[in-house]
Order: sequence, then C-alpha cells, then structure tokens
Amino acid sequence: VISARSTKHGVHRGMSSVTIPPPAFCHRPLEAPFRYLFGPGPSNVPPRVLAAGGRPIIGHMHSEMFGIMNDIKKGIQYAFQTSNNMTLAMSGSGHTAMECALFNIVEPGESVLVAINGIWGERVAEIAERMGAKVHTLVKTPGGHFTNAEIEQALAKHKPVLFFLTHGESSAGLVHPVDGIGDICHKYNCLLLVDSVASLGAAPLLMDQQNIDILYTGSQKALNAPPGTAPISFSERACHKMFNRKTKPVSYLLDMTNLSNYWGNDGKPERIYHHTGPVSGFFALRESLAILAETGLENSWKHHTEVAEYFWKGLEDLGLKLFIKDKDLRLPSVTTIAIPEGYNWKELLAYIMKHHRIEFTGGLGPSVGMLLRIGLMGYNCNKANAAMALAALEDALKQCRMSKA
Ligand code: PMP
Repeated sequence: VISARSTKHGVHRGMSSVTIPPPAFCHRPLEAPFRYLFGPGPSNVPPRVLAAGGRPIIGHMHSEMFGIMNDIKKGIQYAFQTSNNMTLAMSGSGHTAMECALFNIVEPGESVLVAINGIWGERVAEIAERMGAKVHTLVKTPGGHFTNAEIEQALAKHKPVLFFLTHGESSAGLVHPVDGIGDICHKYNCLLLVDSVASLGAAPLLMDQQNIDILYTGSQKALNAPPGTAPISFSERACHKMFNRKTKPVSYLLDMTNLSNYWGNDGKPERIYHHTGPVSGFFALRESLAILAETGLENSWKHHTEVAEYFWKGLEDLGLKLFIKDKDLRLPSVTTIAIPEGYNWKELLAYIMKHHRIEFTGGLGPSVGMLLRIGLMGYNCNKANAAMALAALEDALKQCRMSKA
C-alpha cells in the first residue's frame, strides 16, 4: 500500500500520495452538441451574449465589476419597469431568487398564501414550509387561473404576510392576469411576490404600475443568457418588512442585508466581501439586458405574441389541441399542447430530438403526462423557428403513431 509520508518539505518525493487515477474524460474533448432548445428553457444564447460571457475574468470586487453590476441593475429596472433601488441579480438560478424572496420576507411562524396552478406554486409552498412558515394554498389544476375575488377571499381568511403568484406558469403554458392583485394584497397588509421566470420580456408585466412588491426572473428564458443568474427587485414596502424583522434570515448566502451591500444598494460608501459572484454570468446577463433594452420591451412583447399566434395556428392546422383554450391566457413564450391521442409523448420527444436536433419537453410536476411544451423565446422566437418546430412535429406525427395491437 502506498501511503503519503510527510517530511519537513511536505509530501515525500518519490512516494505517490494520489490514489485515485485521473478520470478518463480528460483525454476526450468537451462535447456539447448544438441543439435547438425549443423547450421551456434554457433557450439558445445569441453569439453576442456568449461572447460577453467569454471575456477574460475580472475580480468580483474591482471597480469595473461594480460598474457592470450597476449597469445590470439599470437593465433590470428597465426590464421590470421599476424604479426600486433594491434591484439586483442573484448568484444562482431562478430557485435562488425564489428562496431569497421567501427567506428574507417571511419569518418562521408567519402565514403565506400560495397560488398553485402548476409546479411553481408547489415549489414555493414547499420552500415556505421548510423555512417554518404557515402555508395556505389556493389550488387549481394546471392551466387554471384565479379571479381577483377568489384571491381577496383567501387573503381575508388567512391574513398572510405574503401572497405568491406565477405570472408565466411554464408547466401549464398559462400567463396569469396580474392587474388589481397588488392593490388587493395591500388592502390586507400583504406583500405580492410574482414569479416571471418564464414570462419576462415575452408578456407584459409592469412591476411598479401593477404594485408588485417582489418580482424575480431567470436569465435563461427570454433573456437568452446562460442559466445561473436571476434578477430580483424589492419595493419599498418589501424592504420595510425585510429590514425590520426580528430574526435573521435562515440563509447567510441569500441574506438581503449582505446582498444589498454587495450590489451597492444600501447607501454605504464601501462594499464588503460577501461571496464571489458569477463574473462571467454577470457579463452575459448585462449583454442580454442590453439586447432587451435595445429591442424595447413593447416590441419584444409584440414580437413574442405575433410569433406565438403564427405557431398556434400552425399547430391547429396539424390537428393538435392547444392546452390553454383562452388565447388571452396563453403564455407566448411557452406553448402547451395536449398529448395527441394514439401517441406516446416520450416517443414523440425522443424522435424529434434524434431526427431534428430539437428539444421539446413534456409536462412538469402536476402536468406530467398531460401535455407537451414548446418554447420559442427571445433569440429563438421567430417564424422560421416556429416553422421548423411545426415541420418536426408533423414528421413525428407521421412516424410515431402507436399501433392499435
Ligand atoms: N419559475 C418558473 C416559472 C420557471 O419556468 C422556472 C424554470 N423552469 C423556475 C421558476 C425555476 O428556475 P430555475 O430552473 O432557473 O431555478
């Protein structure tokens, strides 16, 4: 048995201290094939954003990095349509922003109300339960939505400190109406938390005008940055609640007192090291926010709607049934179709991946086995891609019909 032996110069020369051999992959080049990412995310990243992410690293505390973070903050304020000072990007995926919102706003023992009409409400309810909140839910089957009256009734009954709603329910393909809900929440002294991971840039959302207290999104959907960063913003009302709490948030990494200093939002002259942010991810996020701002939010919403309508018509022409019947409630970025009769959905997806290099996905959480999901967002959102997706579906429908035997 070869063992490491220490000398005063460190590990003894000539003695091997390594017992695990180098892994075989080091002799193979990295393999990341090109795929058309037409699922619910991540979506393909445009060359300009990839190039930004490929720039040489600078230090996370360099003044230039703080300048880039300030740009990101301005980019998010535009994308969210908010003048909130407490605006930043999380180091982590959409779930990080989800946990950050809950951990900072809610103290153990407080009540939260969660609208569940797909997987995202389920997730939030689970996270809230884990951190010791009293969780109340409003539940509909995937694709369902809540009226303002239903929400008001539940707020009056449960008196939560926070109400959660998913704007773009990517597991069902639904865009939820938001108008008036912020005002109702405030009437009951409750904060409104909205998930726009799948909808930002694709469907209209106006944080300040719609009185949303906490809004978050992800980098890898219509923003077309690589996964791994997540914009979030807190209203003054939300800041008042989270900065006057009695207990410290359960997570050190996601504590907004620290993060607001890291992002230069706390008015202090100096930023103190908290964690090392994803420098390349922030470069890419800045570029993707710049593209959205150059395009213009309204143009981006209109473009997503036009392409989605073209795609929906093509799906109907193929004899497929759209899962969300009401056009106004369909999420333009992620279209859901009922699984066609006589087909195995997993076979359809595998066929399309193998023969067309296109990713579509099945349902998620409560919608598994109910539907197929096709995302055309941001950079991927154009009629040529929609036509390619339709042609792939048409081919798969011809080839994958199950035999009746
Ligand atoms: N919310 C919604 C609506 C989503 O679509 C997703 C990602 N599919 C998330 C939250 C979670 O984001 P992430 O996978 O980046 O953690």
